[in-house]
Amino acid sequence: MQQIAETNCPFCGETKSKESFYAPIRFNEKQFVYRKCLSCKLNYNVPLLTPDDYEKLYAVSYHDEYYFKEERDFSNQLAILKQVKDIISVIDFGCGDATFLNNLQINGYTCTGVEFNPELVKRLALAYPAITFYTVEDFFAKKDQYDCAHLGDVLEHMVKPAETIKNLSTKIRAGGYLFVEGPIEHNASLGYYFRKSFFSLAKKLNPARVADGSPYHTFLANRKNQLNFFNLMGYSTSFMKIYEAPWPFPEKLADAKSFKLMVEYIVAKISVTVAKVFRPLGNRFYYLGKKQSDSF
Ligand SMILES: [Zn+2]
Repeated sequence: MQQIAETNCPFCGETKSKESFYAPIRFNEKQFVYRKCLSCKLNYNVPLLTPDDYEKLYAVSYHDEYYFKEERDFSNQLAILKQVKDIISVIDFGCGDATFLNNLQINGYTCTGVEFNPELVKRLALAYPAITFYTVEDFFAKKDQYDCAHLGDVLEHMVKPAETIKNLSTKIRAGGYLFVEGPIEHNASLGYYFRKSFFSLAKKLNPARVADGSPYHTFLANRKNQLNFFNLMGYSTSFMKIYEAPWPFPEKLADAKSFKLMVEYIVAKISVTVAKVFRPLGNRFYYLGKKQSDSF
């Protein structure tokens, strides 16, 4: 078995960690394993993804699999943005198929989209002429600042989330906003406790098991360490909402095609219902933070 090097926690910088309850994942002829930070309890993937791993994980086919598919509803995000009157210009960092930005643009916002893949940027510029699109490199080469930067299901894919937020903060004006939405897979919810029990038992029964998979998420956060992280990055909380989504369990009964999937479907159904009653249970969040310092 390969040696696991200790890497600093990407949220709090602490070096001490212990093995998580997940089996290691085999990907790109390497083994990736989640470690749990002994200080802030964040679970993070070790080793960090290399540029080669990244390329294999996020080929353009990834975008075709997850984007350009269905109409999505952005009324929650719009309601959050509308709470703040002085937000006009919005960047979406990792804008995907830009349906979010298109929705904002229709609602009167000045929109800029940033993506990693130059091919995707060309495709988006053709599809949405009223929105400005940049590659990450071109975006940071310019000096413009914006009222708000949005990250939708992006931060957890970043190898160094603190560096991503610090860089992005240089593009947010003094007193501007950071708007983040994404998963907090290790926040309290029935779905989380079910997964934790399942994986812990599987590991006890077969400690040598290595699973094949794709290590998309650099870290698995909870409400507390996610909020602390934004605080550390120089933001004060204007808005935070936790909610429960069925993912990664089946959302529809029609998708529960085996006994295991049926159990997961039922757990997800109960978990979503319970989380609506007992907040802040849930595996996803919306966060809006106000930039406190301009020291980055
Ligand atoms: Zn930590």
